[in-house]
Amino acid sequence: MAVKFVIIGGGPAGNTAATYAARLGAEVTLVERDVVGGAAHLWDCIPSKTMIATGGAMSFSRRIEGMGLSHQDARLDLEVQRARIAEIEHHLQSQVTQLLSSQGVRMISGSGRLAGPHQVLADTATESIELDADAILIATGSRPRIPDWAQPDGKRVLTTRQAYPPPEMPEHLVVIGSGVTGVEFVHMFTSFGAKVTLIVSRQQVLPAKDPEVAAALEDELLRRGVRLFKGARAEKLDITGDKVEVHCDDGRIAKGSHALLAIGSIPNSDGLGLESAGIVTDGGYVPINHHCQSNLAHVYAAGDVSGKLPLSSVASMQGRKIAEHVMGIHSREHRHIDYEKAASAIFTEPEIADVGLAEADAFASGRKIRVTKVPYAAAAKAMINDDTGGFVKIISDPATGVVLGGSIVGRHAAELISVLALAVTANLKVTDIVESCLAHPTLSEALAEAAE
Ligand SMILES: Cc1cc2nc3c(=O)[nH]c(=O)nc-3n(C[C@H](O)[C@H](O)[C@H](O)COP(=O)(O)OP(=O)(O)OC[C@H]3O[C@@H](n4cnc5c(N)ncnc54)[C@H](O)[C@@H]3O)c2cc1C
Repeated sequence: MAVKFVIIGGGPAGNTAATYAARLGAEVTLVERDVVGGAAHLWDCIPSKTMIATGGAMSFSRRIEGMGLSHQDARLDLEVQRARIAEIEHHLQSQVTQLLSSQGVRMISGSGRLAGPHQVLADTATESIELDADAILIATGSRPRIPDWAQPDGKRVLTTRQAYPPPEMPEHLVVIGSGVTGVEFVHMFTSFGAKVTLIVSRQQVLPAKDPEVAAALEDELLRRGVRLFKGARAEKLDITGDKVEVHCDDGRIAKGSHALLAIGSIPNSDGLGLESAGIVTDGGYVPINHHCQSNLAHVYAAGDVSGKLPLSSVASMQGRKIAEHVMGIHSREHRHIDYEKAASAIFTEPEIADVGLAEADAFASGRKIRVTKVPYAAAAKAMINDDTGGFVKIISDPATGVVLGGSIVGRHAAELISVLALAVTANLKVTDIVESCLAHPTLSEALAEAAE
């Protein structure tokens, strides 16, 4: 008899697990209350990167004189942008839906919850469907965190779900939160010409990142005229007519035409019946082991609700590993996800990407490392692109030469990090990078140089 696998939530975690498990022979039912593709397609990764790509083209158009072209005054058409985002989302959503149905996944449009350790109830518009399960995956994602002092109205005060695209282009936006999501918004809105004030609760933007990397971004934000309120925590937000005022705990007030909350997310686990089914939660998250199992061996959790790295790429990887584990496949290499080795990117200007061990973490733990750093300008391609800002930094083990991590700041960093991600995952040595005969002229040559 086929394994009955019921999945609640059709984002990257849920739909990847569904596809792989069905391919491996499971009888899969996927319950999704909104659209397959999840928040990742609807509000997060796809709309954000679509608008950032347009913003990038716009800011590039301002600097084309260096390439011998006369300046074009590019203007944003917000309605065309809205249609472009909707078209991409629709395309991706139908792609995922087709893939799931081609693998024989049963899709139920409704809200899922547990009725017992082996039962899921799917509440649709017309009925409640009872599903028996040998294995269950909770992949319900997360939603923006809204503090009690702010009331987003979708017009002047926005959450991250209301800003890609915004209802109108703000004249002066106050962004609250300077993590990855916050700085991507700052980058996008300044590319379109908006004034921005950024509230930074610590002394550096991107507090979790390498200080040198964060400094490179701060320089560019200051160059764009962004006002940084460092060491300030927002604690009150007033809307008066067409103005907003964000009051900070140090007495400063950031004034603007709009405000955006980018202060993290909370897990979607309420109303799922987890506790009554015997599943342990922690602050709403479902703690998991290295196989993504909850305290009940047949109940898995993946994606943002699992409290691991909140990235679409990580959610998909967890989904694939779970499918293999449910189907009893244990023979593959790289059986467990090593979250420390997940690559991540920040789609700002300069673009930022990193993977593996960070220099600051190595120093903090007293680990001996070799750090090599090369500016982008070392690669002819950077000069050809008329964009020489940025650097590649590689962290390796001084005794063995094994690549432990790296950071890239500059154009196409998110693509280039793949080389270092592969090196870190496969325990390659710096010499493996040096000995690869790369195409010329490319930005990858800066990578090879940094590996020397
Ligand atoms: C602005 C922004 C930009 C981002 N950009 C990137 C990026 O560039 N790259 C990247 O890797 N990550 C990015 N992320 C993070 C990424 O979006 C999330 O990590 C990813 O969506 C998590 O996937 P998931 O499958 O856990 O959840 P989701 O994508 O949130 O999907 C969960 C699904 O579960 C459904 N659901 C919830 N409860 C129920 C229920 N009871 N019954 C049925 N269905 C239910 C929801 O409707 C939803 O479709 C970004 C996040 C934000 C906020």
